[in-house]
Amino acid sequence: MFYDTHAHLDYPDYAGDFADVMARAQAAGITKMISIGTSLDSSERALRLTEKFPAIYAAVGWHPSDAMKAPSDLRPALREMCKHPKVVAIGEIGLDYHRLPGGGGDDDARYKQKQADIFQQQLEVATETGLNCVIHQRDAFDDTLAQFKPFAGKVRGVFHCFGESADRMRRVLEIGSLVSFTGIVTFKNGQNVRDTVAATPLDRFMLETDCPYLAPVPYRGKRCEPAYVREISETVAQVKKCSLEELSAATCKTAHAFFPKLVK
Ligand SMILES: [Zn+2]
Repeated sequence: MFYDTHAHLDYPDYAGDFADVMARAQAAGITKMISIGTSLDSSERALRLTEKFPAIYAAVGWHPSDAMKAPSDLRPALREMCKHPKVVAIGEIGLDYHRLPGGGGDDDARYKQKQADIFQQQLEVATETGLNCVIHQRDAFDDTLAQFKPFAGKVRGVFHCFGESADRMRRVLEIGSLVSFTGIVTFKNGQNVRDTVAATPLDRFMLETDCPYLAPVPYRGKRCEPAYVREISETVAQVKKCSLEELSAATCKTAHAFFPKLVK
């Protein structure tokens, strides 16, 4: 039994065969899934899925890559959604400097500022509502950690799709936050991530697919889905030199502590 703590189940990728995707997840022992919002519409769609499928929970939030499309104040709509019994976190939120408008000029500065503004608003809602945060960062580790730190005593973050060094992992754990690992751990060129997995204590990380992206080997390059947490868990258990049972117990316990609204 494993959980997929980060999936984008509202994406159109699953429109054609959603019931089959759910059936394969169940057959693979993936008993809970958290569908992560990337905009208000996407968060709303995730909420509707939680109402149809007992195994699905939701995180609500606005992804930094779409920051320019965000309304000036996200907080009222998010506060409303957080009242839903199956909203277990705010996310995914953070900073992403991977694709800047370019030139290093005013456009880049405006984009980064808008990302920081909506990240800040969403951290505020997390603090008010007592929900933890699913953190996305790409090429922005130091800025993300710096902006998150003032909130660290009040909320915790899971730095998802963690692909950073063991040293950076320790900086995340130091402030009471967690990391989570995707199918990248199975990639031939994923040795750096496996090294970080090896260095992360068994009770300080969770598993996720980030589907439809990042399908693990042997599905690499294809559409990913929650059932593939199985392949991810097999690699992680090998790296941690533990049994699948131990990995299941540890990661599910961590998920329940981090997302208290997940029903046991
Ligand atoms: Zn994601």
